Amino acid sequence: MKSKAALSVLSGTLVFLVIICGSVVVVSTAPAPAGRFIVVIDPGHGGHDPGAIGWLGLQEKEVTLAIARLIELEAFLSEPRLKIVLTRRTDVYVPLKERVELASRLGAALYLSIHTNAHRNLQVKGIETLLPESWRGRSWASLSLAKRLQRSLIRELGAPDRGVKYQRLYLRWSHVPAALVEVGFITNPEEARRLASLSYQYEIARAILAGIKEYLGLTG
Ligand SMILES: [Zn+2]
Repeated sequence: MKSKAALSVLSGTLVFLVIICGSVVVVSTAPAPAGRFIVVIDPGHGGHDPGAIGWLGLQEKEVTLAIARLIELEAFLSEPRLKIVLTRRTDVYVPLKERVELASRLGAALYLSIHTNAHRNLQVKGIETLLPESWRGRSWASLSLAKRLQRSLIRELGAPDRGVKYQRLYLRWSHVPAALVEVGFITNPEEARRLASLSYQYEIARAILAGIKEYLGLTG
């Protein structure tokens, strides 16, 4: 009896390790229980790819990882209907195709990539949400997700609204609704200072989570 019970517990909590470019990602093989949504959050860049380098040497890959981990923490504390899975949990580089394929493999409700922006003109600032150019005029679910994220970020952070835009992006490989948020310009001194602070990173995380919940109809 004991071995049977133990076996069912083991299969219910089965996890396996996936080696991605030297990093170890723990992936649950169990589908999300009824009423629960898996959300894949991608902290942009990592490892040998720092992303944009900003004011006072601030690196994009550090800011994106900090925000992603705060989204995971906030969801864990406040929203049992969400299961957040990160594409990376440490300072490693994960190939872009593997990032979006993780969302398909897990049957995720959505994929969200987090980035910070950069511009030669240090005065440029604000928040924008991006979708792949090839999705223009289709993929309405992703457009709905992008609009909700953008609206929530602007409402909560009060940053200039640069809108939802289409660009050539690796997100076009995603088989689940997806969007990419640019949460501010690390080349703008004022935004860089805010992006480096834990309190502002937490505000961003909460705003993103609110947008995700709105998209998934979890506002009640
Ligand atoms: Zn980036």
